[in-house]
Amino acid sequence: MERTAEGGCRCGAVRYRVAGAPAATTHCHCSDCRRMTGAPTLAWAIFPEDNVAIVAGELAVHETSPGVEWGFCAKCGSTLTYRRASRPGLFDVTTATLDDPELFPPEKEIWTGERLSWIRSNPDVPHFPRTATG
Ligand SMILES: [Zn+2]
Ligand SMILES: [Zn+2]
Repeated sequence: MERTAEGGCRCGAVRYRVAGAPAATTHCHCSDCRRMTGAPTLAWAIFPEDNVAIVAGELAVHETSPGVEWGFCAKCGSTLTYRRASRPGLFDVTTATLDDPELFPPEKEIWTGERLSWIRSNPDVPHFPRTATG
């Protein structure tokens, strides 16, 4: 059986479980991540869709544009998930909402073209001005 890990929102109403290793991990500097969380950057663990399950509560979904879905807790507001129709089969969870946020450290920084001047990048990982795939 694959290893699983759990995470959830601040108030505990919404809980999720991920199985196996992420397909990718990123640390994102984009303005959408900022606006959706109020944080200057956001780290993501990106899983095959079938390996992510909501195990308690219900995700509230906000579409930032058609087919781009951000999942959060409607009670406390924690940003928990992301997926988009143009990238089928993948489902992201916010790394920092895992019960153990050290499990899947970001292997790259993306959207560094939108990085705030007062946020330092990690020199130990590759940087991409936009997405990692161009
Ligand atoms: Zn909550
Ligand atoms: Zn972003």
